[in-house]
Amino acid sequence: MSSFRKRALDEFSLHKPERFYVESEPVSQYFAKNLFDMEKMRRYLSAEAFDAVQDAISEGRKIGREVANQIASGMKAWAVENGATHYTHWFHPLTDATAEKHEAFVDPSKNGGVFENFRGEALVQQEPDASSFPNGGLRNTFEARGYTAWDPTSPAFIIDQTLCIPSVFVSYTGESLDQKTPHLKSLQTLDRAASELLELFGQGSSRVNAVLGIEQEYFLVDEALFRARPDLMLCGRTLIGHTAAKDQQLEDHYFGAIPSRVMAFMKDFETEAYKLGVVLKTRHNEVAPNQFEFAPYYSEANLSVDQNLMMMILMRKIAKRHKLKVLFHEKPFAGINGSGKHCNWSLITDKGVNLLSPGKTPGKNMQFLSFFVSVIKAVHEHHHLLMASVASLNNSHRLGGNEAPPAVMSVFVGRTLTAVLNSIERMVSENISADEMSKSLNIVGKIPEILPDNTDRNRTSPFAFTGNRFEFRAVGSSVNVASSMYILNTAVAQQLVAFRSRAETRIANGASRDEAILETIREFISESAAIRFEGNGYSREWLEEAERRGLRGISDVPQAFLAFMEDSSISLMREMEVLTEKEVEARYEVMNEIYVKKLQIEARVIGDLTINHIIPTAIKFQNTLIDNVRGIKDLFGPDEYKVMSERQLTAIRKISGYIQQLREDFHYLVEARKEANKIESPSDRARVYSDTVLPYMGKIRYIADKLEMVVDDELWPLPKYRELLFLR
Ligand code: ADP
Ligand code: MG
Repeated sequence: MSSFRKRALDEFSLHKPERFYVESEPVSQYFAKNLFDMEKMRRYLSAEAFDAVQDAISEGRKIGREVANQIASGMKAWAVENGATHYTHWFHPLTDATAEKHEAFVDPSKNGGVFENFRGEALVQQEPDASSFPNGGLRNTFEARGYTAWDPTSPAFIIDQTLCIPSVFVSYTGESLDQKTPHLKSLQTLDRAASELLELFGQGSSRVNAVLGIEQEYFLVDEALFRARPDLMLCGRTLIGHTAAKDQQLEDHYFGAIPSRVMAFMKDFETEAYKLGVVLKTRHNEVAPNQFEFAPYYSEANLSVDQNLMMMILMRKIAKRHKLKVLFHEKPFAGINGSGKHCNWSLITDKGVNLLSPGKTPGKNMQFLSFFVSVIKAVHEHHHLLMASVASLNNSHRLGGNEAPPAVMSVFVGRTLTAVLNSIERMVSENISADEMSKSLNIVGKIPEILPDNTDRNRTSPFAFTGNRFEFRAVGSSVNVASSMYILNTAVAQQLVAFRSRAETRIANGASRDEAILETIREFISESAAIRFEGNGYSREWLEEAERRGLRGISDVPQAFLAFMEDSSISLMREMEVLTEKEVEARYEVMNEIYVKKLQIEARVIGDLTINHIIPTAIKFQNTLIDNVRGIKDLFGPDEYKVMSERQLTAIRKISGYIQQLREDFHYLVEARKEANKIESPSDRARVYSDTVLPYMGKIRYIADKLEMVVDDELWPLPKYRELLFLR
């Protein structure tokens, strides 16, 4: 067997389960041990410093230099006591990775030796040499500087003896260069809009938080096998590889018993997650072999995003101990399910009221309906932008794959709420006067209490209402979900503002409050009707129907990105003060750049696999067939040989054909790449990469996978799907 693959398989089969690192005490004893949470702040900060942090969190108030010094010193005391030697601003550039640059606490002291030092300035602001992060041209124009600034709303934590301080990353001139900044701004805008709409219901202006519960899907593979696959190592997915005879057909993996090796990993990971104050609730096998999921308990959206990114770091780290690799890629294996991050999203006031919970009393139901229809309308108005936000090279292999959400947006609300919305809307078509309508207000009273489990589930919907929250399922498993959530938040904020303003206009024109609200609800229902869909999102009929309704899906990725540059998107971001036009443009450029770079890498890797792995293997095997035929000819003479070798000759011809085809496709792939690389503009280059380079990837894979099925297993150089996909 190819020594590469054989060594990996030996290592895999000889693997002995690692010892567990789980704690013996109950979780509550060590929960949040590595998190500088409220309780630690109370212990380590002065009253003044503690209050300053609280004010910063609840009111966004600035923290002065003097107090910053006090906070830094308390934080340092806690961190050093807990084994930290370094600190870093932890930020989220536009790469979907997190970034950190560690500084030691120690400084030389005058009389020799060192002391631990952490000043307020270093806590509040740092200036990493950030010139090599994607910025979409934002920093070429002015100063090439970028700086990170502490986000006090997300507590600092310790990973790897390093104090990590969640931070935003902005250019010297104030443009955001990261995922966190627009997310924080969108949350602020949403809070304001939601609080103001609540005033209409006489609820005062309490604070409204968007909360998020992120379900994370992922794959695990053996590390030795992973290392024997250049494509997994460099691209996070298999670029070639025939499907295994058995994978998920028997539906025996989903919710099945968790393999013991995986269980050891999960327990270890959970222990560390608890120490970081993350309440992991759910773990289970997913549909595809070696695919799993975890979900923490939901929390305030900014925290949830940070926690999700912390968990990704942790999982990669812990997996090493177990000689495993975590694959966060959206589609690591062709032919079986891919992975996503389901974003469960709702709005909760500081008094703990979930604005998306239908509740029991009619008055509350009006409030619920107002928020509910505003979300639906937001998705309707910006459905293409929301889909664009989940578009990526990775996710394009998953979306629309009959397992993941379709590549076109719709909202599922369930039977009960559909009936409610329809009956309210019908009052319009039946031309019921405002007066009569106000009498029939009690229709709202007829809404049965909708319990979460009263809603029917529709797994084929990209955006589903699940009883007291919406679940956005199209988001990819490898991304920072802030990149989609800021758009959702902003779009919803816009509609909440519109809702209030329309209702107020009606009141100013003499309508009663209830009338005005109900009429606005009706209007919102009609205007957003096209986005609601209750049927099977995987069906061909739906895609046709969606087109008739004017809903735009993702046909290809660079095309989808264009949604960012549309007037409606730019004005949404500008009006709601989340991104300037320049910032949107920069993001658009970065998305295109990343698309091209990923495809460039994949094209190189598949080229390498073709020329240096697959073709030589095919030739080697072909030679053994040729030798064999020659031997038969020597032994039996020309007449008998013909009869005996007919199929052999066919096989030799077939393999020759494959090799020829691979060489040809490889040639065109390289040519296409060369041409595309000449193009200056990132969006044009992405366009051409998608049109000319991408198709050859598929062609090459098709042939390589055929060869995998005919070449002697002993010779095949790469671990196969059946070897990669079944951990015990
Ligand atoms: P599913 O049945 O959809 O797989 P899970 O239990 O795996 O659900 O995960 C659901 C996620 O939704 C969890 O993170 C949970 O905390 C979160 N969640 C529950 N209620 C809400 C809510 N009102 N708003 C936001 N997220 C919520
Ligand atoms: Mg789940």
